[in-house]
Amino acid sequence: MKKDLKFYLNKAIKEGFCLGALNFSNMECLQGIVEGAKEMNSPIIISVSEGALKYMQEDYCISLANVARKNKGIFLHLDHGKSYEICKKCIDLGFDSVMIDGSSLPFQDNIKITKKVVNYAHKKGVLVEGELGQLMGIEDEVSSQTSHYTDPDKAKEFVDKTGVDTLAIAIGTSHGAYKYSGEKTLHFDILKEIEKLLPNFPLVLHGASTVDQSVIEKINEYGGELKSTNGIPKNLLKKAVKQHNIVKINTDTDLRLATTMKVREVLINNSQTIDPRDYLKPAREEIKATTIRKIKELFYSSNKL
Ligand SMILES: [Zn+2]
Repeated sequence: MKKDLKFYLNKAIKEGFCLGALNFSNMECLQGIVEGAKEMNSPIIISVSEGALKYMQEDYCISLANVARKNKGIFLHLDHGKSYEICKKCIDLGFDSVMIDGSSLPFQDNIKITKKVVNYAHKKGVLVEGELGQLMGIEDEVSSQTSHYTDPDKAKEFVDKTGVDTLAIAIGTSHGAYKYSGEKTLHFDILKEIEKLLPNFPLVLHGASTVDQSVIEKINEYGGELKSTNGIPKNLLKKAVKQHNIVKINTDTDLRLATTMKVREVLINNSQTIDPRDYLKPAREEIKATTIRKIKELFYSSNKL
């Protein structure tokens, strides 16, 4: 029997691992992620945002994702669905899970829209991720100038009233490449409170790229002008996974940085090239290498399929 996403999320809670949810917006990125996961024999979630779905165009995107899903343990997820309609569309298209992001709405409205998505999704066997609290930063069509940490009591009420399968929480991560200007920390006190009220409930971290300095430096070496920046320290993410119920960690920025680094490097070093394969192939390999590194460091360890 084909093991479903719920199986792996439950296993992740019990065994102290997590699933990586990696965003893609083109074929090379998707192939890099899938090749990396296959090599590690690890399940992985391939995520598309509404923006990526529009960019790739729905039919192309789903067709590519379905080829990827012929492999064991590859799950397709909608990242930050902002409306009931987009969630319903993705459920009808056969996604394994959808996120309804009502985090910018008043609490009761967030409950209402999330519950509506859950009712529809569960009839079709699709999982739903909700979000409570707000992350600072920008990612595709999601942006916020401020952050609000998740209120543990509200998290409990939200899960009870909506019936969501997983919950994205805000404990100090943020979207995009520029995550920290001040102290680098995650609020484990809030996480513990949430876990006390929601024991063994699968939790999700967004905005959890590590933004490796060596990658930023290389991009700048090849003509980029990125500000020096800090991602989420690996040791904090590891702690959140091993000692807590974080079972899904979203990563988009690190893959974007890997792609940009490789394309810049190849173009600067090969100024005569005109064949996109000359730089997209190395970019795909870089995505694969990044995926493997993340699986080893943080996600499901080898041989978990
Ligand atoms: Zn996010």
